[in-house]
Amino acid sequence: MSTVEDLIIVGSGPAGLTAAIYAARALLKPLMIEGEEVGGQLMTTTEVENFPGFAKGIMGPELMVEMKQQAERFGTRFISKNVTRVDFSKRPFKVWIGSEEFQAKSIIISTGATAKYLGLESEKTFLGRGVSACATCDGAFFKNQDVVVIGGGDTAMEEANFLTRFASQVTIVHRRDSFRASKIMADKALANPKIKVIWDSEMIEVKGDMKGVNSIVIQNLKTNETSVLKTQGVFVAMGHKPNTDLFKGQLGTNEVGYITTAPKSTATSVDGIFAAGDVADPIYRQAITAAGTGCMAAMDCEKWLEANEH
Ligand code: NDP
Repeated sequence: MSTVEDLIIVGSGPAGLTAAIYAARALLKPLMIEGEEVGGQLMTTTEVENFPGFAKGIMGPELMVEMKQQAERFGTRFISKNVTRVDFSKRPFKVWIGSEEFQAKSIIISTGATAKYLGLESEKTFLGRGVSACATCDGAFFKNQDVVVIGGGDTAMEEANFLTRFASQVTIVHRRDSFRASKIMADKALANPKIKVIWDSEMIEVKGDMKGVNSIVIQNLKTNETSVLKTQGVFVAMGHKPNTDLFKGQLGTNEVGYITTAPKSTATSVDGIFAAGDVADPIYRQAITAAGTGCMAAMDCEKWLEANEH
């Protein structure tokens, strides 16, 4: 029988690593199963200018390496593999990596969310070098430049409006002839003189060079005609998918799959399991808010272990 860990943390973005730092300093010796793609969404970002403490900015991957080293310093252990199955129906909780079974008294889930992309090869090539899925994170890099927003939902409207603070022109490219967004948000975007819309169209290629993006190729889905639009930035705003498939049926989620937590707490529907970061946050989705809830999860967990298991 495998040893029963005090705490297993699943996921290695800012939420999981902050939880690990706090839990390790509380001597819980957390075991982090960090996944095969370690570090979360910041690994695909270049410069991070809004994480407090780095006045000159810091590269996303560098920030994650620092966080990992900080968690390691206090005794966090890491496994760089994906969890393949969980059983949260009774304690100790069980987590598998293939056929290898792990047991824990408590679990923190910080598996994040994945931004939806079109899936173009060129989109991947320029990710973090002109292609982004977060205007709050990267908008300020596009002062007085032209940018494109892909999508027609509330996220696209919000991102487009936000980007007009920096960009000289924001073009929304949407695949249909009407927005999915709420009327109030769509009307606000349509009334903004800096925003124009290209309807019934899809981006089919991102073009650029060593310096970054310089144009995109758009196809009109009604006429099949293609055209080239000069732009320096592409904000893909087609929504996010929380990484919760693994926990389906075992934890409470909202209608689109985000883990639900008790008010002002990281406690999930299962006693002893906590959730932190984007996996439970459809609203803020920032590294700093993920780190904040990671800290909360470790503190909630520590208190819970003290009351229930130690
Ligand atoms: P949505 O699912 O509402 O919208 C996604 C948009 O992306 C749609 O317009 C969709 O097009 C488009 N899209 C999806 N896949 C593709 C594709 N392969 N190619 C081209 N376009 C594509 O996601 P959001 O993130 O916008 O919103 C999610 C939820 O969050 C909603 O309930 C929304 O109301 C809420 N929200 C609220 C905000 C607020 O109130 N401040 C802000 C942001 C989000 P199509 O319309 O054709 O399907």
